[in-house]
Amino acid sequence: MLKVAVVQCPSIPAAMPPTELAQLAGCVAYCNHSLRVIDLNVRSKQEGWHRDQWADEVLAGGPDVVVLSVPPGAEDASLALASRMKSVRSAAQVVLTGSYFSQFERAEELASSRFDAIVGGPIEDLIPKLLGLFEASGDWTALPGVVAATREGVKSGGRPVPFTFDLDLAPYMDFSGFRAGDYERPTHLPMVASRGCPWRCDFCAPRERWAKHSFKSGDRIFSEIAYARKQQPTWRHVEFTDIMANGSVDSLVRFSEMAVENGLPSRGITWRMQAAPKPDMTPEALEAFARAGCAEIVYGLESGSPKTLKAMGKPIAVAETERVLRDTRSAGIRTVGTLIVGHPAEADEDFEATLGFLRRAKGALDRVVLRAIEVQEPSVLWRGGAVRATEDVLRGRITSLAEVAASAGMECEVKDLSGTERPAMAA
Ligand code: SF4
Repeated sequence: MLKVAVVQCPSIPAAMPPTELAQLAGCVAYCNHSLRVIDLNVRSKQEGWHRDQWADEVLAGGPDVVVLSVPPGAEDASLALASRMKSVRSAAQVVLTGSYFSQFERAEELASSRFDAIVGGPIEDLIPKLLGLFEASGDWTALPGVVAATREGVKSGGRPVPFTFDLDLAPYMDFSGFRAGDYERPTHLPMVASRGCPWRCDFCAPRERWAKHSFKSGDRIFSEIAYARKQQPTWRHVEFTDIMANGSVDSLVRFSEMAVENGLPSRGITWRMQAAPKPDMTPEALEAFARAGCAEIVYGLESGSPKTLKAMGKPIAVAETERVLRDTRSAGIRTVGTLIVGHPAEADEDFEATLGFLRRAKGALDRVVLRAIEVQEPSVLWRGGAVRATEDVLRGRITSLAEVAASAGMECEVKDLSGTERPAMAA
């Protein structure tokens, strides 16, 4: 049995335990290794960033392997912590993995002797294999999906095979090492129903991290939630954190049936997801979700202009979106919609169409979230070198949309125009 520490560096809001870290913990627990979970992301919110002190803490107890979970935004802090740990105690194997490395080429780019391995690909498949190989032989260098530092230099096992993974076969996420009370939303259980997205909007960076969309069955989603609630019985609300949780509406309908059969809604358990206004979000499906405790759906609407939607690569029709919003509201589920301004293809008349769309959504949309387009790596827009509209144009459009939302009686949230916040990392 190996002693394994799994670690999350600062990167993201600390509303709930990070799902990637919980998945990593699940992989270690599944293999019956000794597990320690260290969420430095949540600690950094109160204590700041203390690389050297935290390196000592992670290494206390002499782990055989330290695995850092690296979502986008955590890469600088993770590389700094990994490097420090190697300089303090070179006997501990330091491994980096997570969605930042879901594109295997990035693992190859960053490989260096400052850490022992980078795992690029589906962790549910690769981490159990990596730990098994290390326990058996101390050598993981030939494993596809791993780039390893050796005495002879950096060695790559090549792209993982297969690159995608049946999510129903993944070990359950393990939340036993987290304290719900440490997080901003102590009653919220974070859950994932899928990976990637079947669509490919040109501004969407998260979608590019996973080439193929995959999803869990409804039975699996239900049983994973039941398992998590046994570990943290105070959780009363399930928050699906997928970029598009309704990639498979059938899976969610099956999950909803099981939730009702097993009495989740009668015990006051609610859930919420980010979704697309797809044609298969039928009144029947939405009513099934509502019966199962679905309290709110956040729809990625982005624009009310057919021309802008087409340029974005979003295969939705405005009339269908309006139908889905109305049916969601009729089912008794709160509706939230996101709108984006400043897409390179958004002309003044397209923006006028979005204003008209928002006016017509009165009574069907409870809340609207407004933001300016972000041209982020590795989105299609970013690769094409796109430039967004000027700040004056962005502010003007957001102000106009906010005025329409106010007059329609909708709640309105405006996101920071400057884009994603990154934590400051002092050594
Ligand atoms: S539907 Fe949403 S998650 Fe999917 S590609 Fe578009 S923006 Fe990204």
